[in-house]
Amino acid sequence: MSYKLFIPGPIAVSDKTLRAMAQPMIGHRSNDFVALYQAIQPELQALMYTKDPVYLSTSSAWGSMEGALRNVVQKKVLNCMNGAFSDKWYDVALRDDKQATALKFEWGQPVDPEAVRRELAKGGYDAITLIHNETSCGCMSDLAAVMKVVREFPEVISIVDTVSSFSAMPIKKDELGIDVLITGSQKALAMPPGLSLISVSKRALDRAAQTPGRGYYFDFVEFQKNHEAGMTPSTPTVSLIFALKSKLEDIKAEGVENRYARHLRLNKMVRDHILAKGFKMFPKEGYGSVTLNCFANTLGYDLAALNKILKSKHHLVIDGGYGKLKGKTFRISNMGDETDETIAAMLKSFDAALAETPKVSA
Ligand SMILES: *Cc1c(COP(=O)(O)O)cnc(C)c1O
Repeated sequence: MSYKLFIPGPIAVSDKTLRAMAQPMIGHRSNDFVALYQAIQPELQALMYTKDPVYLSTSSAWGSMEGALRNVVQKKVLNCMNGAFSDKWYDVALRDDKQATALKFEWGQPVDPEAVRRELAKGGYDAITLIHNETSCGCMSDLAAVMKVVREFPEVISIVDTVSSFSAMPIKKDELGIDVLITGSQKALAMPPGLSLISVSKRALDRAAQTPGRGYYFDFVEFQKNHEAGMTPSTPTVSLIFALKSKLEDIKAEGVENRYARHLRLNKMVRDHILAKGFKMFPKEGYGSVTLNCFANTLGYDLAALNKILKSKHHLVIDGGYGKLKGKTFRISNMGDETDETIAAMLKSFDAALAETPKVSA
C-alpha cells in the first residue's frame, strides 16, 4: 500500500526527483562526474551562503555529525542538548572518546545563548555542537543569537546541524561564523535518505589537519583533496547526486525567497488549523520550527489509532511522537514540496480521521 509521509523525515519525494535517480550510472572518476560535481557546487554554496566548499558525504547525517567531532575536537566539546538528536550527539562524542560536556535544556526549550556563554567562559573548549532545528520536538533555536556568543570564543569550532531546516529558511553560514554546517538529504531537501552535505571553513579544515584519530571515511582533509579535483574520496551515491542536481534546479525555478515564504505560510496553516481544535504547541512559544509543528496531545487522543485511520483510509501518515514523547505529542511536517493544496488536503483528512479517533484519557 502506498501512502504519503507527513512525518518530519524521511518526507515525500517527488516523481521528478525519483526519475532523476533513474539515470544510467556514470563513473565517479569520469569527466561526467567532475562536471556534475562542479555544476552543483556553486548552487550549494549559494544555498548555504558560504564561500567554503560543500563536501558530499555518502552517509546519513549522523555520519557527518560523528565525522565532524572526529575532525575538530582535540580538547573538549560542548554539546548543546534540547531534544533527541542533540542529546545523542553528546553520547556519540563519548563513544568517540572525546572529552564532552552536556549543556542540557528541557526538550522543547531552545538553546539559551547566555547558558552557552557561561559554559564556554569556563574555558577548555575547542568545539561546540548545536542543532538549529530539533526535529524531535519541533523546536528551533535562535541560531544568530547563539552564534553571536560562540564567536566570542575564537578557539571554539562551531558544528551546526541544519538537517531539518536547510533550504527552508536562510541560514547564512559565513555571516554567522558557522565553521561546519551539516545537512542531510531526506528532510528539508525532500530527497531519499543516504546523502549528507558538509560545508567546512578554512579554520576547521586547518584544525582537522592537526587532529589525530579522524579516520578515513569522514576525513575533511581527504574530502578537500578530492574536492579540488571535483570528486569525493570514495564512490559516492551517484544516483542521489543526480537527485540533488534536480532538486537544486527545482529550488532555482521556484526562487529561494518564494521557497522560504512557502514554508512559513504552510507551517502557519497547519499550526492555526490544529490549534483551533484545542491542541497546544509543545515547544516554547516563539521557538516553533518552520518546517514542522510539534503539538502537545492535550486533548488525549489515541495517536496510534489516529495514525492507523490516516494510513488506511487517507493514505498518509503523521508522526505520533518521538522517543519519550510518543503518544504525548504529534508532529506534522511541511518540509519539501508541499503546497497550499496538499497541506489543505492533509488537514481535511486529519479532521475526518480525528472525528473517528477514540481518546485514551478524558
Ligand atoms: C533526522 C535528523 C538527524 C539524523 O539524521 P540521519 O539521517 O538519521 O542520520 C540529525 N539531526 C536532525 C536535526 C534530524 O532531524
